[in-house]
Order: sequence, then structure tokens, then C-alpha cells
Amino acid sequence: MNLIFLGPPGSGKGTLAMYLVEKAGIPQISTGDMLRAHRAKGTALGLEAQSYMDKGELVPDSVIIGMVEERLAQDDCKNGYILDGFPRTLAQAHALEKIAEIDMVVSLVLDNEVIVRRLSGRRVCPDCNGTFHISLLEDEKKCPACGGQLIQRVDDSEATIRNRLKVYEDQTAPLIVYYREKGLLREIDSSGSVEDNRRELDKVLK
Ligand code: ADP
Ligand code: ZN
Repeated sequence: MNLIFLGPPGSGKGTLAMYLVEKAGIPQISTGDMLRAHRAKGTALGLEAQSYMDKGELVPDSVIIGMVEERLAQDDCKNGYILDGFPRTLAQAHALEKIAEIDMVVSLVLDNEVIVRRLSGRRVCPDCNGTFHISLLEDEKKCPACGGQLIQRVDDSEATIRNRLKVYEDQTAPLIVYYREKGLLREIDSSGSVEDNRRELDKVLK
């Protein structure tokens, strides 16, 4: 099954995708994680992406589309995958249509103020890509999944979060209508707990 997780930053796409990776045994393809890996390695692509990411702007379509095409051609994508954070523009959706058959688009719905609260308390693990909220952590510095050192992302500052939300409204939200018209959209309320969201997801996948 080829899935897209669509939703504003901080709506829980990554956390929910990790759940499905375990359950369904298909890979999560997070363009945000891929870009951060490029940056960590200091590749040309990573250097190009850096300034956009830190401001909360989108990385140019040409860069992203090439990167995703390459990833989807790999062996582990044969039995399906979860796209997390891609497509984010109509141009990306059109490019995807040429290379993949999407079965369902899961759209996570959440209000902006909750998002700001969630993201400003978010910590991420550079080792396993896990994301956690400080309110649920025993130790704010230690990854409960792998023991790695948790950090706060540069783009999780409040001003940048607001910009990311605006970018989402302008450039990504039109995809909701786009996929609804294709009959692929399933919306889930993402305001509850992690457990609630998993249950919501199980319901739409059935
Ligand atoms: P979030 O969904 O929490 O905003 P991501 O990790 O998905 O975070 O993305 C972080 C940043 O990486 C984005 O703000 C953007 O700069 C860049 N990025 C990720 N995916 C894409 C994409 N599909 N198109 C353009 N830029 C992207
Ligand atoms: Zn970890």
C-alpha cells in the first residue's frame, strides 16, 4: 500500500508513520529526515537546503522531486511506503503522479494553537529520528527509544513555527482539495493522544 500522510507541521505525521512502519512493515519516507541527513553529511544538496529549512521555507521542488524519485526506486519500496512530508506543493503532487500509484492520503487535522504548543515543546533524536514532547519525557536530554541525545530543531522556534504554518496554508493545504477530488482523502482528527491517533488511523485503514 502506498500512502501519503498530509498535515501541517506538528500534526503528528512522523509519530504516526513510525507506528505504521512497525505494524505494516513498510518504510517511512520522510523528506524532512532525508534533508537533515544530507545536512549532517554536508552534501551539496544539504547545503542548498539549509537556509530554506532554517527559515521554515520550502526547499525548491526540483531538489525534492529528484531526491524522492531516487528513494522510491529502491528495493524496500516495492511492497509499499508511507510518504511523510511529501508532496508539499501541487508541482510535487504532479511529479509524484508520474512515478507512483497512491492508494490513500491520510490527512491529519489539527488547530494552529495546539500546533505551536506541540512544536515549541518538541525534542528530536538525531540518532533514530524519534520525536517527543517535553511533557512526556523523564529526561529532557535523553531519547527514550534509543538513549541518544535529544535536541531542539532550529526551526522549532515560535517565529519559525508561525512561518511554517503560513507556508503550509499557502502551498500545501491546496493538496487537501486536490486529493479529495481524486477520492483518495481520509481525514483524521489529530488533536488527541498518540494512542487516539493510532486508533483513528487503524479505522481509516480498515
Ligand atoms: P515539519 O513537517 O515538522 O515541518 P519536516 O521535517 O517534514 O518538518 O520538514 C522540515 C523542513 O524541510 C521544511 O520546513 C522544509 O524546509 C523542508 N522540507 C521537507 N519536506 C519538503 C518538501 N516535500 N518540499 C519542500 N521542502 C521540504
Ligand atoms: Zn533515539
